[in-house]
Amino acid sequence: MNLMLFGAPGAGKGTQAKFLIEKYNIPQISTGDILRAAIVDKTTMGMEAKKFMDAGQLVPDSTIIGIIKDRLAVADCKNGFILDGFPRTLAQAEALGELMENMKIKLDKVISLNVPDSLIVGRITGRRVCSGCGASFHVEFNPSKKDGVCDYCGGELTIRKDDNAETVKSRLEAYHSQTAPLIDFYKNMGVFMELDGTNDVSEVTNDMINALSSLILQIPTASSSYL
Ligand code: ADP
Ligand code: AMP
Repeated sequence: MNLMLFGAPGAGKGTQAKFLIEKYNIPQISTGDILRAAIVDKTTMGMEAKKFMDAGQLVPDSTIIGIIKDRLAVADCKNGFILDGFPRTLAQAEALGELMENMKIKLDKVISLNVPDSLIVGRITGRRVCSGCGASFHVEFNPSKKDGVCDYCGGELTIRKDDNAETVKSRLEAYHSQTAPLIDFYKNMGVFMELDGTNDVSEVTNDMINALSSLILQIPTASSSYL
Protein backbone atom coordinates (compact mmCIF):
# COMPACT_ATOMS: atom_id res chain seq x y z
CA MET A 1 0.00 0.00 0.00
CA ASN A 2 1.46 3.34 -1.07
CA LEU A 3 0.19 6.09 1.20
CA MET A 4 0.76 9.77 1.72
CA LEU A 5 0.03 11.65 4.93
CA PHE A 6 -0.79 15.23 4.13
CA GLY A 7 -1.34 18.31 6.29
CA ALA A 8 0.15 21.39 7.87
CA PRO A 9 3.30 21.14 9.98
CA GLY A 10 2.19 19.76 13.35
CA ALA A 11 -1.03 18.24 12.00
CA GLY A 12 -0.03 14.82 13.37
CA LYS A 13 1.45 13.09 10.30
CA GLY A 14 4.50 11.66 12.08
CA THR A 15 2.41 10.56 15.06
CA GLN A 16 -0.04 8.65 12.86
CA ALA A 17 2.70 7.25 10.61
CA LYS A 18 4.03 5.27 13.59
CA PHE A 19 0.72 3.35 13.81
CA LEU A 20 0.63 2.67 10.08
CA ILE A 21 4.20 1.30 10.12
CA GLU A 22 3.17 -1.28 12.72
CA LYS A 23 -0.17 -2.12 11.19
CA TYR A 24 0.93 -2.50 7.56
CA ASN A 25 4.64 -3.23 8.00
CA ILE A 26 5.68 -0.56 5.51
CA PRO A 27 8.27 2.17 6.10
CA GLN A 28 7.62 5.83 6.85
CA ILE A 29 9.47 8.16 4.53
CA SER A 30 9.79 11.53 6.22
CA THR A 31 11.86 14.04 4.26
CA GLY A 32 12.12 16.10 7.46
CA ASP A 33 13.66 13.13 9.34
CA ILE A 34 16.05 12.42 6.46
CA LEU A 35 17.18 16.06 6.40
CA ARG A 36 17.64 16.14 10.19
CA ALA A 37 19.76 12.96 9.99
CA ALA A 38 21.89 14.64 7.30
CA ILE A 39 22.37 17.64 9.63
CA VAL A 40 23.50 15.35 12.47
CA ASP A 41 25.93 13.67 10.04
CA LYS A 42 27.10 17.13 8.90
CA THR A 43 26.84 16.20 5.22
CA THR A 44 27.07 18.96 2.60
CA MET A 45 23.40 18.44 1.77
CA GLY A 46 22.47 18.62 5.47
CA MET A 47 24.42 21.84 6.03
CA GLU A 48 22.78 23.46 2.99
CA ALA A 49 19.29 22.34 4.03
CA LYS A 50 19.77 23.54 7.62
CA LYS A 51 19.71 27.21 6.56
CA PHE A 52 16.25 26.80 5.05
CA MET A 53 14.94 24.62 7.87
CA ASP A 54 16.06 27.02 10.62
CA ALA A 55 14.28 29.83 8.78
CA GLY A 56 11.09 27.80 8.42
CA GLN A 57 11.40 27.76 4.63
CA LEU A 58 11.17 24.86 2.22
CA VAL A 59 14.38 23.18 1.13
CA PRO A 60 14.88 23.46 -2.68
CA ASP A 61 12.96 20.94 -4.80
CA SER A 62 16.08 19.51 -6.47
CA THR A 63 17.49 18.40 -3.08
CA ILE A 64 14.20 16.89 -1.93
CA ILE A 65 13.49 15.08 -5.20
CA GLY A 66 16.99 13.57 -5.11
CA ILE A 67 16.37 12.31 -1.56
CA ILE A 68 13.07 10.68 -2.53
CA LYS A 69 14.47 9.10 -5.67
CA ASP A 70 17.18 7.36 -3.61
CA ARG A 71 14.81 6.41 -0.80
CA LEU A 72 12.10 4.85 -2.98
CA ALA A 73 14.77 2.67 -4.59
CA VAL A 74 15.55 0.97 -1.25
CA ALA A 75 14.25 -2.61 -1.00
CA ASP A 76 12.05 -1.99 2.06
CA CYS A 77 9.71 0.10 -0.15
CA LYS A 78 8.76 -2.82 -2.35
CA ASN A 79 5.56 -3.62 -0.43
CA GLY A 80 4.63 0.02 -0.01
CA PHE A 81 5.47 3.13 1.98
CA ILE A 82 4.05 6.05 3.90
CA LEU A 83 5.14 9.46 2.61
CA ASP A 84 5.23 12.02 5.42
CA GLY A 85 5.99 15.66 4.66
CA PHE A 86 6.56 15.00 0.97
CA PRO A 87 5.58 16.33 -1.54
CA ARG A 88 5.29 19.95 -0.45
CA THR A 89 5.29 21.69 -3.85
CA LEU A 90 3.71 21.06 -7.21
CA ALA A 91 7.15 20.36 -8.73
CA GLN A 92 7.74 17.68 -6.07
CA ALA A 93 4.29 16.15 -6.70
CA GLU A 94 4.96 15.99 -10.41
CA ALA A 95 8.41 14.45 -9.87
CA LEU A 96 6.85 11.86 -7.56
CA GLY A 97 4.25 11.02 -10.20
CA GLU A 98 6.99 10.44 -12.75
CA LEU A 99 9.08 8.34 -10.36
CA MET A 100 6.12 6.16 -9.46
CA GLU A 101 5.13 5.75 -13.07
CA ASN A 102 8.65 4.54 -13.86
CA MET A 103 8.44 2.13 -10.92
CA LYS A 104 5.02 0.97 -12.19
CA ILE A 105 3.35 1.69 -8.88
CA LYS A 106 0.54 4.04 -7.97
CA LEU A 107 -0.52 6.10 -5.01
CA ASP A 108 -3.38 4.39 -3.18
CA LYS A 109 -4.44 7.19 -0.85
CA VAL A 110 -3.54 10.69 0.28
CA ILE A 111 -4.84 11.16 3.82
CA SER A 112 -5.13 14.77 4.86
CA LEU A 113 -5.16 15.49 8.60
CA ASN A 114 -7.10 18.71 8.91
CA VAL A 115 -6.08 20.97 11.81
CA PRO A 116 -6.70 24.74 11.88
CA ASP A 117 -3.70 27.09 12.20
CA SER A 118 -5.00 28.25 15.60
CA LEU A 119 -4.14 24.80 17.07
CA ILE A 120 -0.85 24.34 15.24
CA VAL A 121 1.29 26.73 17.30
CA GLY A 122 0.44 24.95 20.58
CA ARG A 123 1.10 21.57 19.02
CA ILE A 124 4.47 22.54 17.64
CA THR A 125 5.77 24.43 20.67
CA GLY A 126 4.84 21.49 22.95
CA ARG A 127 6.30 18.83 20.64
CA ARG A 128 9.07 16.58 21.94
CA VAL A 129 10.90 14.34 19.50
CA CYS A 130 12.90 11.20 20.21
CA SER A 131 16.57 11.62 19.33
CA GLY A 132 16.73 7.87 18.70
CA CYS A 133 13.75 6.90 16.55
CA GLY A 134 12.15 10.26 15.71
CA ALA A 135 8.84 9.46 17.46
CA SER A 136 6.77 12.52 18.28
CA PHE A 137 5.22 13.32 21.67
CA HIS A 138 3.53 16.36 23.19
CA VAL A 139 4.05 17.63 26.73
CA GLU A 140 0.30 18.02 27.24
CA PHE A 141 -1.69 16.31 24.46
CA ASN A 142 0.39 13.17 23.93
CA PRO A 143 2.91 12.80 26.77
CA SER A 144 5.44 9.98 26.94
CA LYS A 145 4.91 7.54 29.83
CA LYS A 146 8.19 8.59 31.44
CA ASP A 147 9.15 12.25 31.33
CA GLY A 148 11.79 12.96 28.68
CA VAL A 149 12.05 9.31 27.58
CA CYS A 150 10.69 7.77 24.36
CA ASP A 151 7.98 5.09 24.84
CA TYR A 152 9.18 3.19 21.77
CA CYS A 153 12.98 3.01 22.05
CA GLY A 154 13.92 4.61 25.39
CA GLY A 155 15.73 7.44 23.55
CA GLU A 156 16.00 10.97 24.90
CA LEU A 157 13.20 13.40 23.99
CA THR A 158 14.39 16.71 22.57
CA ILE A 159 12.94 19.98 21.24
CA ARG A 160 13.45 20.54 17.49
CA LYS A 161 15.40 23.70 16.69
CA ASP A 162 12.65 24.88 14.33
CA ASP A 163 9.83 24.22 16.80
CA ASN A 164 9.41 27.79 18.06
CA ALA A 165 6.56 30.27 17.67
CA GLU A 166 8.63 32.46 15.32
CA THR A 167 9.46 29.71 12.80
CA VAL A 168 5.97 28.22 12.93
CA LYS A 169 4.64 31.36 11.25
CA SER A 170 6.94 30.95 8.22
CA ARG A 171 6.25 27.23 8.08
CA LEU A 172 2.49 27.83 8.02
CA GLU A 173 2.94 30.47 5.34
CA ALA A 174 4.96 28.01 3.24
CA TYR A 175 2.26 25.38 3.80
CA HIS A 176 -0.59 27.61 2.65
CA SER A 177 1.17 29.14 -0.34
CA GLN A 178 3.21 26.18 -1.66
CA THR A 179 1.74 22.95 -0.26
CA ALA A 180 -2.03 23.49 0.07
CA PRO A 181 -2.42 23.77 -3.75
CA LEU A 182 -1.61 20.05 -3.86
CA ILE A 183 -5.05 19.35 -2.39
CA ASP A 184 -6.63 19.99 -5.80
CA PHE A 185 -3.84 18.09 -7.54
CA TYR A 186 -4.63 14.93 -5.54
CA LYS A 187 -8.40 15.51 -5.57
CA ASN A 188 -8.18 15.47 -9.37
CA MET A 189 -6.31 12.16 -9.17
CA GLY A 190 -9.21 10.77 -7.09
CA VAL A 191 -7.01 9.66 -4.17
CA PHE A 192 -7.53 12.49 -1.68
CA MET A 193 -9.28 11.88 1.63
CA GLU A 194 -9.76 14.20 4.62
CA LEU A 195 -9.87 13.38 8.32
CA ASP A 196 -10.53 15.58 11.32
CA GLY A 197 -7.04 15.89 12.79
CA THR A 198 -8.27 17.81 15.85
CA ASN A 199 -9.59 14.65 17.51
CA ASP A 200 -7.54 12.70 20.06
CA VAL A 201 -4.56 10.80 18.68
CA SER A 202 -6.32 7.42 19.13
CA GLU A 203 -9.52 8.65 17.47
CA VAL A 204 -7.58 9.89 14.43
CA THR A 205 -5.82 6.52 14.26
CA ASN A 206 -9.16 4.67 14.33
CA ASP A 207 -10.62 6.90 11.61
CA MET A 208 -7.54 6.33 9.47
CA ILE A 209 -7.49 2.55 9.93
CA ASN A 210 -11.24 2.36 9.17
CA ALA A 211 -10.82 4.38 6.00
CA LEU A 212 -7.89 2.24 4.90
CA SER A 213 -9.60 -1.08 5.62
CA SER A 214 -12.38 -0.20 3.19
CA LEU A 215 -9.66 0.73 0.69
CA ILE A 216 -7.93 -2.64 1.13
CA LEU A 217 -11.23 -4.38 0.34
CA GLN A 218 -11.43 -2.41 -2.91
CA ILE A 219 -7.87 -3.16 -4.09
CA PRO A 220 -7.47 -6.39 -6.04
CA THR A 221 -4.70 -8.80 -4.94
CA ALA A 222 -1.91 -7.13 -6.92
CA SER A 223 -2.23 -4.15 -4.60
CA SER A 224 -0.63 -0.87 -5.60
CA SER A 225 0.67 -2.14 -8.90
CA TYR A 226 -0.36 -1.42 -12.45
CA LEU A 227 0.77 -4.89 -13.47
P1 ADP B 1 3.67 16.48 11.89
O1 ADP B 1 4.44 15.21 11.66
O2 ADP B 1 2.45 16.58 11.04
O3 ADP B 1 4.52 17.71 11.82
P2 ADP B 1 3.47 15.48 14.62
O4 ADP B 1 2.94 14.11 14.42
O5 ADP B 1 4.90 15.59 15.00
O6 ADP B 1 3.12 16.43 13.38
O7 ADP B 1 2.56 16.18 15.73
C1 ADP B 1 2.81 17.52 16.16
C2 ADP B 1 2.59 17.62 17.66
O8 ADP B 1 1.20 17.46 17.93
C3 ADP B 1 3.32 16.56 18.48
O9 ADP B 1 3.72 17.14 19.68
C4 ADP B 1 2.25 15.48 18.69
O10 ADP B 1 2.48 14.74 19.88
C5 ADP B 1 0.98 16.32 18.78
N1 ADP B 1 -0.20 15.64 18.24
C6 ADP B 1 -0.25 14.78 17.19
N2 ADP B 1 -1.51 14.37 16.96
C7 ADP B 1 -2.28 15.00 17.89
C8 ADP B 1 -3.68 15.01 18.19
N3 ADP B 1 -4.53 14.27 17.46
N4 ADP B 1 -4.11 15.78 19.21
C9 ADP B 1 -3.23 16.54 19.93
N5 ADP B 1 -1.91 16.57 19.71
C10 ADP B 1 -1.44 15.82 18.70
P1 AMP C 1 9.04 18.41 8.88
O1 AMP C 1 9.89 17.48 9.68
O2 AMP C 1 8.20 17.71 7.88
O3 AMP C 1 8.26 19.37 9.76
O4 AMP C 1 10.06 19.30 8.03
C1 AMP C 1 10.99 20.15 8.67
C2 AMP C 1 11.61 21.09 7.66
O5 AMP C 1 12.35 20.33 6.69
C3 AMP C 1 10.63 21.92 6.84
O6 AMP C 1 10.23 23.11 7.50
C4 AMP C 1 11.45 22.19 5.58
O7 AMP C 1 12.43 23.21 5.81
C5 AMP C 1 12.22 20.88 5.40
N1 AMP C 1 11.45 19.92 4.55
C6 AMP C 1 10.98 18.70 4.91
N2 AMP C 1 10.36 18.11 3.90
C7 AMP C 1 10.41 18.97 2.85
C8 AMP C 1 9.93 18.95 1.52
N3 AMP C 1 9.23 17.90 1.05
N4 AMP C 1 10.17 20.03 0.73
C9 AMP C 1 10.87 21.09 1.17
N5 AMP C 1 11.35 21.17 2.43
C10 AMP C 1 11.13 20.14 3.26
